[in-house]
Amino acid sequence: MQLVGNNDRCSLHPPEDAEMDGPFQLANSVIDTVINNTDPAVFLLRRIEETPEYAHYRALIGRTDGNLAKTLKQWLDSDYRVFSFQYVESTDAAFKQQCMMWHQLEGPDGKLDNERHPEPNDGQVIRCPVCST
Ligand SMILES: [Zn+2]
Repeated sequence: MQLVGNNDRCSLHPPEDAEMDGPFQLANSVIDTVINNTDPAVFLLRRIEETPEYAHYRALIGRTDGNLAKTLKQWLDSDYRVFSFQYVESTDAAFKQQCMMWHQLEGPDGKLDNERHPEPNDGQVIRCPVCST
């Protein structure tokens, strides 16, 4: 018999938004209610993609250096229905967290609508903690 220790806990749960707040409905009033500061943040938007036989989630992972509420409102008229978010301590932390989630969700071949690997801001000298690009 194999015992599952605490160290294995993460692998048994979807990692994608385990540390995030949400999901919340992507609506103007909800954004105004739950977003209450302008720290850098990482966010995940989700939509449901339907085929004749299946419905499955697709996600978009993004980051913001300040105005999360304003950033999320750009997607109000999109197919995305819910959002999750996590504040981080710096713009570098936002980039790193976005990269880690990009790799966890396996980019466009996995569950993401993001077609390309996250890129640093202009002038931001930092590398992806997973693949060093
Ligand atoms: Zn990477």
